Amino acid sequence: QAKDVNASKLQFFNTGIQREFNYRQQLIAALRKAIKSESLEIYLQPQYQQLSPDSALNCLGFEALLRWCDEELGWVSPAEFIPLAESQGLMPDLHRLVLDQVLSSIPRLQRSALECGVRVAINVSASQFKAEGFVEDIEQRLLATGIPGELLELEVTESMLIDDIEHTANNMERLKALGVTFALDDFGTGYASLGYLKRLPLNSLKIDQSFIRDLHTNNSDEAIVRTVVALGNSLDLDIIAEGVETEEHLLKLQEMGCFRFQGYYFARPEPVSFWTSSEKD
Ligand code: C2E
Ligand code: MG
Ligand code: MG
Ligand code: MG
Repeated sequence: QAKDVNASKLQFFNTGIQREFNYRQQLIAALRKAIKSESLEIYLQPQYQQLSPDSALNCLGFEALLRWCDEELGWVSPAEFIPLAESQGLMPDLHRLVLDQVLSSIPRLQRSALECGVRVAINVSASQFKAEGFVEDIEQRLLATGIPGELLELEVTESMLIDDIEHTANNMERLKALGVTFALDDFGTGYASLGYLKRLPLNSLKIDQSFIRDLHTNNSDEAIVRTVVALGNSLDLDIIAEGVETEEHLLKLQEMGCFRFQGYYFARPEPVSFWTSSEKD
């Protein structure tokens, strides 16, 4: 009897694992297909700046975020498919797709009637940033499209700064020479030593949304955000808060001296066509 129970438990356990395995295989196949047919799409979420607490908000530009809706699987989050793409060696393809879509969206944004900066930030994974030809590829595309490097920002994460800082710094300097700017994403969640901050040509730090969520009630989050703002001031880095969802978040951030924002309170990521539908006359 006990043996039967264990056997059926094992059976249950196995089908669970089996199901997960099958789902993963299905995702991988669907992702490959989506990349081939270019059915993944960038959405753009605006970023805002304020010069003082009572002045108007200016739109600085956008962050490009990948979106994928599969016919059978429905919406799949980047938090799920980016690591999968990473493990399957598909990041170069995704990176190419994002860069293509971003560079072709920039002229459309320039023609649109939006009162918004047209700089677009893209997320770059560590493996991509280190890949052979990364810098040259961006350089060639900027030349070929005639788009000024100043309109492109790269969001990098602390994890990519940990090993081979020389190589990373070198790549960043070469891109900086083209006008490209750099933001350190998810700041505060990684392990990079603060010493890196002054060795790299960074323009801004993005405070991770996990510190913003409970900002008005959590004292340690508040202390962290204050520290990051002070750090930004002394190292001459812009500080932008991610995941600003409420007026409370906004007021608290302003009170702490942070005047750059991105989040649902202002706008959600939307398809390029959403932002470019009205043209300048
Ligand atoms: P991230 O770069 O830190 O992007 C910010 C995430 O926060 C995005 O999630 C965005 O949709 C979400 N967000 C924006 N405003 C709010 C808000 O007010 N509240 C909340 N709760 N969330 C907000 P998303 O689009 O699901 O992307 C998740 C992560 O996937 C990104 O984090 C980034 O690390 C990665 N990712 C997305 N697109 C790409 C890409 O094209 N390339 C690479 N390498 N990674 C990407
Ligand atoms: Mg980002
Ligand atoms: Mg982030
Ligand atoms: Mg994140």
